Amino acid sequence: MDTVTPEQRKKTMAAVHSKNTMPEILIRKALFARGYRYRIDYKKLPGRPDVALPRYHAVVFVHGCFWHGHAGCPNFRLPQSNQEYWIAKIDRNRKRDGDALNHLHALNWRVCVVWECAIHGKNKKMKVSQAAAKISEWLKSDAVWLEISGWNVDEKQLLQPVT
Ligand SMILES: [Zn+2]
Repeated sequence: MDTVTPEQRKKTMAAVHSKNTMPEILIRKALFARGYRYRIDYKKLPGRPDVALPRYHAVVFVHGCFWHGHAGCPNFRLPQSNQEYWIAKIDRNRKRDGDALNHLHALNWRVCVVWECAIHGKNKKMKVSQAAAKISEWLKSDAVWLEISGWNVDEKQLLQPVT
């Protein structure tokens, strides 16, 4: 049974949403600073990627750990109430993400997923810059897939100065 009032739901969604808009802007700015030009919200492609780089046949998604259900991530915490509602909702999002990914691969697009936790919290600036460096390296490679996640990354590694 869903006991969330539309008002409560709107509030929770707005709160999570506004938090999640920042990371994609940070990644876009960092890529732009490295000289990359891209399309945003590229509607032509499945999943409407946050960043599309047609020249590299590559797209980048910046995923909020909550909305996209980042498995095992310490930043993924369900709200205290109405957990069934949120679990069902996030499951649908994950399924949609998976479908988009399969679809993009079938169309020969390369896909990078940056999880919010990789560019979140302390040393944000450095983390964003390091993520952009990884994306840049990946764009120039032949690899079809790149995932940048914060939770399974050695913190010491993250704290190293960018060279
Ligand atoms: Zn995460």
